[in-house]
Amino acid sequence: MTNLSNDLKNTDIKVQQFLARPHMHFINGAFVDSASDVRIDVIDPSTCAVIATIPSGTDTDVDRAVAAARAAFDHGPWRKLTPVERERRLLKLAELLETNANEFSQIESVNSGRTLFATRKFDVDLSVDYLRYTAGWCTKIEGRTMSPSVPYVPGGKFFAYSTREPLGVVAGVTPWNVPLGQAIWKIAPALASGCTIVLKPAEQTPLTALRFAELVMEADIPPGVVNIVTGLGRVAGAALVNHPGVDKISFTGSTETGVGIGEIAARTMKKVTLEMGGKSPVILLDDANLDLAIPGAAWAIYGNHGQNCCAGSRLFVPRKLFDRVVSGIADIAKSIRLGASLYPDTEMGPLISPAQKRRVLSFIESGVQQGAEILTGGGGPDHPGCYVNPSVLVNTRNNMAVVQEEIFGPVLVAIPYDGVDEVIEYANGTKYGLGASLWTANINKVLEISPRLQAGTVWINTHNVLDLAVPFGGVKFSGTGHELGEEAVMLHTRLKVNMISIA
Ligand code: NAD
Repeated sequence: MTNLSNDLKNTDIKVQQFLARPHMHFINGAFVDSASDVRIDVIDPSTCAVIATIPSGTDTDVDRAVAAARAAFDHGPWRKLTPVERERRLLKLAELLETNANEFSQIESVNSGRTLFATRKFDVDLSVDYLRYTAGWCTKIEGRTMSPSVPYVPGGKFFAYSTREPLGVVAGVTPWNVPLGQAIWKIAPALASGCTIVLKPAEQTPLTALRFAELVMEADIPPGVVNIVTGLGRVAGAALVNHPGVDKISFTGSTETGVGIGEIAARTMKKVTLEMGGKSPVILLDDANLDLAIPGAAWAIYGNHGQNCCAGSRLFVPRKLFDRVVSGIADIAKSIRLGASLYPDTEMGPLISPAQKRRVLSFIESGVQQGAEILTGGGGPDHPGCYVNPSVLVNTRNNMAVVQEEIFGPVLVAIPYDGVDEVIEYANGTKYGLGASLWTANINKVLEISPRLQAGTVWINTHNVLDLAVPFGGVKFSGTGHELGEEAVMLHTRLKVNMISIA
């Protein structure tokens, strides 16, 4: 264990100044007061100390933000800019974020409890790259030409072409596990395609999005193109996704919330991308290189404290290798240094909130009550922060909640298996289908097993590797649509066809 409590005096003076500022909604190019005086505490989960407060946005705030985004889309300059001009603004945003990388990383670490390494790499650096990647797409949104035959118009001559038009106003709703990263995954493809956006960040982690709004002003993005309303999901979030002025909902969060949003989208004919929960299997085959697979499986679950949608939370190991693999992972779990996010020796920080800590511990407890055994972990240090020890559970059964439900914490269930058909059935045996990993030296086994896995991504000899150029999405109750890659940009456009009769 390293130091379990952050000392904010260890942060940059700019971070301390930002935290002390009054935080407001960002609407139509300016920070504005909320319609309500109610505020939400934002904490540092290493101590649960309040580090800032944000407005609890209301229907009225959401109305204002959507009206601003609507006006900016329908009448503003954003859509009229040439693709190269839009690209330049996105590149400017990337440059500004890069320049302020340390400040963003520190704010994110204090607020989300994740290490400076994690927030720097996954929130800041990946976002800088992703802004640049999507900037490149501005000039590459294209349709195609077609030569119709139209057999029922004898002698007719036709020419057809398609274009891709921006969808309009996007409602972006994001979770707390990679806060800035998730916000940029919503904002960047929306802007690249010519859309405008209202973002509702998670109430636990709204701070980097609000700091990013300041960069939006600096980068000369026209007013109303990016708007941010803070607040509770069931109030501000619900008002936003239900709003008739919204054309597309891009949601990342839990399956429960996502299913409700999917129903709203179906009823209102809004386009929708849903990135939801997971219970991703890590499957070791009998020829796996254990020197890679044991640490790989450990970090597949313990990376980001298990608060990863695609965390490798179910481990399947051939029975004859089970004891060796599981004791190797338990050794790694015991060696992980828990600590406050700002300390350089920390390998795993706290979970996001007291509620999340309670939820994770109650899952472990329910597993134990049903007969599971804690090989290592369970509980957490006696400290006000939201720490949970990295845990391994064995002796589980497939129908236990710890095996079926997303825990979203550092809890691995390890399960032995006897044959390939059996492990595929286990792997597919939850409602989720986000990621899966296969650990093997045999490409033929990859080619045989991967198509049988119900997962949006199958990693081979690795896990949790996401890249800006590679689309990411889930199947079953893990979601619909994709983020990242070309797909994310195109999912913010609609195809229009023009059919011309040639005289
Ligand atoms: P959550 O569903 O509780 O909240 C996510 C966001 O939705 C928050 O901004 C919240 O305020 C908002 N929200 C809540 N209720 C709402 C409603 N009724 N209408 C509109 N918005 C509402 O999820 P969470 O606990 O913040 O995040 C953890 C979940 O996110 C996990 O299930 C995780 O797997 C998932 N996640 C998925 C991906 C992915 O890409 N598939 C990535 C990261 C996280």
